[in-house]
Parts: sequence; structure tokens; C-alpha cells
Amino acid sequence: KVVCVTGATGFIASRLVMILLNRGYTVKASVRDPSTVLIENLQRGAIKAVYPGRGSLWNGDPKKTQHLVSLRGAKERLHLFKADLLEEGSFDSVVDGCDGVFHTASPFYLDTKDPQAELIDPAVKGTLNVLNSCTKSSSVKRVVVTSSMAAVYNNVKPRTPAVDETWFSDPEFCKDSKMWYALSKTMAEEAAWNFAKEKGLDMVTINPSMVIGPLLQPTLNTSAAAILSLINGAKTFPNMSYGWVNVKDVANAHTQAFEVPSANGRYCMVESVTHLSEVVSILRELYPNLQLPERCEDENPHVPTFKVSKEKTRSLGIDYIRLKVSIKETVESLREKGFIH
Ligand code: NDP
Repeated sequence: KVVCVTGATGFIASRLVMILLNRGYTVKASVRDPSTVLIENLQRGAIKAVYPGRGSLWNGDPKKTQHLVSLRGAKERLHLFKADLLEEGSFDSVVDGCDGVFHTASPFYLDTKDPQAELIDPAVKGTLNVLNSCTKSSSVKRVVVTSSMAAVYNNVKPRTPAVDETWFSDPEFCKDSKMWYALSKTMAEEAAWNFAKEKGLDMVTINPSMVIGPLLQPTLNTSAAAILSLINGAKTFPNMSYGWVNVKDVANAHTQAFEVPSANGRYCMVESVTHLSEVVSILRELYPNLQLPERCEDENPHVPTFKVSKEKTRSLGIDYIRLKVSIKETVESLREKGFIH
């Protein structure tokens, strides 16, 4: 079977590409870097064919795709395309001929100067652009969109007894709180569901919380940076509680959401919601020699944790990797890639 993964250079997408190749799929992967270094990938035989059309074969920076083209099965079954979220029709030829489409590409930054241009447009227009390409191709059976818990629990409802898939973030709440990334994901998911309903597209969303675990890509992504920020000499940690989940579980859930015929709707993915004080304690226990922050940056009571239902993702066969293991895998990986001094 042939599948497409958008934003293949990313943290989650790289792991997803790896799993898909391991499962025998042919993967058409989109990347956006416009630089024109390459040739190397072609020479290595990592790319076999040049595809016509707008989503043309990508000849970009080999450093950003080296980890992908080195994956087992890549030489035979991975095809890289250049496609831009904001360019209409850009994904037509990437998606064409695919049974399944995994749309993961979306900017994940917390600092932004221009939320509309940097986050909201690529998230919302990009998602609609990809979904629109899917409707043009008769081969596409299902689309799996990487949404986020940011599109689930950012509203004023009390988070008891547990947050679940029936929850939706409130765009006004996100706007008022200046949570621009959360707003981008909330608006993108809402637009996606409206589009899918209108066009009769079989769509499933995966809604993970902070994703950690081993990195495949050479660059540092925002959620792994949340762990790194506790390690490189910070004196304090923010008064924050986050939901955490391992990238291997998230990537597996994506493939399951495509492969399990009865998969439907949304899937919240949180192993546990844990305050950073507890994350620091786990780090201290695992790595007594690391220089870790000693106290919270403010004196207020700790931001409370809450529960997120695991029932629906269990129906996909996900048995969550425990947070302590995920933290350990993240640190080992950050160390191996030279991010920890
Ligand atoms: P990464 O930053 O590692 O990857 C993001 C991907 O999106 C990259 O391939 C990036 O391409 C691509 N991208 C970003 N902006 C654009 C743009 N304007 N045009 C085209 N491509 C773009 O992030 P993650 O792997 O962490 O995130 C992947 C998806 O998962 C996103 O949809 C994110 O919202 C979602 N998610 C992530 C969570 C996490 O904790 N990591 C939690 C919940 C959801 P390039 O390499 O060229 O920059």
C-alpha cells in the first residue's frame, strides 16, 4: 500500500515514516525546505523516481532528510516531495495514488511575532489545502490528521472527572489567553471536521499532548525542548503541568487509526498530566549528576494536574509507555545528538 506523510522532517512524522516503512508501506513524504542543495539523495539511490506536477520531487537540504533516507526500506520505498502548506494544489501529486494520508505538517512554536502568518495560516489553510488534494484523488480511503490536546482542553470547563474526546477548545478562550499555537490547532481541527463532513471524507484525528521520547531528526523540536530546558543549567522551572506522551505511541496510534477499519473521530493521547516539579524529580532520580533546577519560578500553588481518558486510544491497542521511560529515552536521545552539554 502507498501512503503519504506531510511534514516528514518533523519529530512525530519522522517516527511515523519509520514505522510505516517497517510495516512495508511505500511512503510519499512531503518536505518544505526550498533550498536546492541535494543531488546526493538521488545519487545514493534514496529517491527512485521523479514525479511530475506541482508537488515535484524534492531536491533540498540533505541534512534535513538524511535520517529519513537512511531508514530501513527507504531506498526502495520512500519518495520525497517538496510541497508547501500555503501553496494551493501543492499536495495534489503527493497525495495522488495514496490509500492513506497522514497530515502532520504544522508549525509548533510558542514564541511568535505574527501569529496569523506564522501559525494560524499554515495550520488552517495548510490543512484545508491537504484535505482538498485528498478529495481530488480517488485513491484516498482515509486521512489521519495530527491535531493536538491543545485543541481539546483549552476552555473554561472544570477538568473533572476527566477530559475526553467530547471536549473542544474554545477559540475565544485561546485568543483571550494569547495561546496562539493552541488557537492554530483548534481552528485547524474545526476547519478540518467541517470540510470532511461537507465532502464526505473519512477522517480521523490524533490529539496528543506534549510528545517526548527519542528523536530521529537532527533538529530540536519544541516538545523535546521542554525537557531540555530543565537540564541545561536552569535555576528554576515554570509553574506548569503538561500532559506527556511518547512519540512511539503517537506514531503507532497514527498507523492504527489508518489500519483499524472502525477507527473514527478523535483520539486524545496523554499518558499522564504531570507538573514540572515531578518531571524534575524523575530526572533527579534517573540522573543524579545532572544540574537540575531546584525550585519553581513562583511561590503560587502548583498548577493542578487532571485526568485524560485513555479508553478510546486503548481501543487502538495503545498501551502507553510510562512517563519515566519516556523521559529517560528523551534524555538519552538529546545526549546522543549533542544537545546536553
Ligand atoms: P516539528 O516541529 O518537529 O515538525 C513540524 C513539521 O511541520 C516539520 O516537518 C515542518 O517542516 C512542518 N512545517 C512547519 N511549518 C510549516 C510550514 N509553514 N509549511 C510547511 N511545513 C511546515 O513538530 P512535531 O513533530 O512536534 O509536530 C508535528 C505535528 O504534531 C504538528 O501538527 C503539531 O501541531 C502536532 N503536535 C505536536 C505535539 C508535540 O508535543 N510535539 C503535540 C500535539 C500535536 P520543516 O522541517 O521544514 O520546518
